[in-house]
Amino acid sequence: MKSVVILGSTGSIGVNSLIIAKRYGFIVEALVAGSNIELLNRQIEEFNPKFVYISNPKDRYRVNHNYIFSGEYGVVELLEHTKSELIVNALVGYIGLAPTLKAIKLGRRVALANKESLVVAGEFIDMSKIIPIDSEHFGLWYLMSGRKVSKLYITASGGAFRDWSIDDMKNATFKDALKHPNWSMGNKITIDSATMTNKLFELLEAKWLFNTIDIEAYIEKKSIIHALVEFVDGSTTAHFAGVDMKLPIAFAINGEVKDEILKPVNLLEIGALEFKEIKKDRYPIWEIKEHLLRNPHLGVVVNASNEEAIKKFENGRCTFFEMSKIVLKSYKKFENIKATNITDIISIDKEVRNYINFSKI
Ligand code: NDP
Repeated sequence: MKSVVILGSTGSIGVNSLIIAKRYGFIVEALVAGSNIELLNRQIEEFNPKFVYISNPKDRYRVNHNYIFSGEYGVVELLEHTKSELIVNALVGYIGLAPTLKAIKLGRRVALANKESLVVAGEFIDMSKIIPIDSEHFGLWYLMSGRKVSKLYITASGGAFRDWSIDDMKNATFKDALKHPNWSMGNKITIDSATMTNKLFELLEAKWLFNTIDIEAYIEKKSIIHALVEFVDGSTTAHFAGVDMKLPIAFAINGEVKDEILKPVNLLEIGALEFKEIKKDRYPIWEIKEHLLRNPHLGVVVNASNEEAIKKFENGRCTFFEMSKIVLKSYKKFENIKATNITDIISIDKEVRNYINFSKI
């Protein structure tokens, strides 16, 4: 019987992953959640997992299960107890890295939504074990036809402030930044979309997955085209699909898909399509795009800086644009750092976070 473990089951990707797992008759062996115990309890009732994880041990008494893991190393311990061939990693942020590494070490395949794993440590991750859950990379994979490719393109919606004046963006709040025009996603990725850091991360993801830096991102406001592939013969093909993660998730979990997951796009309803350049005045983070693609080992610096900057923005300790300033300053400071193994990655991550939190930037 096919079985699967869902890490981050109470999040936006996690919930969709459970819908897909159920549709294809997978047994859900384990569920991993943070603090949304109410939803986790409903999922336990519906999917009857063998093991569950919650982040805070104090919440144990609220969870309707008798095999509960928790705490810093709990997800990795839980994985050791599981037998599923497939692990869906839909955790958000740096905390997703250790489970990705552990799952691979255990010989499992990882359906990976947690893009931070690749951003931080792509160099040390066995790509043959990774199936990406990201609409852009799924789109690229879908378009690859065996013909010789000259360039890859992914698209960006432009995020919450794409139509705001730059002056208004200076005073934008955390709440404002959460109003994504097209997608309904978790908070962190929604903020990353507003700053364009999400697209920077996706370029890095593409670098590791497809082993190329001939990759560009443009804004396509309708989020109907997710990816394009340019071939050496001069033709370019585009991947159109509805704004819904169930399609990439279905391929990642089930391997093949022969039924309708999404309604086909209605071309007449789409009307005109437009591509726009990503500009540095609105998205200052774009300044490091070229350098980062050539130095992808610096992803760990960008990720740690970005996670700390988001916390500051959320707590009102920096403005919207100051988030990118913090990341750029930290990037400059750690420009010459290079990890040679995962232990280095862990210590660089800590050093960068300390720098941001104790040096008043
Ligand atoms: P959400 O914030 O919606 O979900 C995050 C999940 O992680 C929740 O289940 C949350 O639990 C859990 N979690 C958070 N902290 C912990 C912790 N300390 N221990 C255990 N579990 C924890 O995020 P998304 O689903 O939007 O995104 C997940 C990942 O997928 C991100 O890396 C994102 O970039 C990527 N992604 C998301 C897309 C989307 O459409 N949403 C598209 C492509 C990629 P709880 O809520 O119970 O606290």
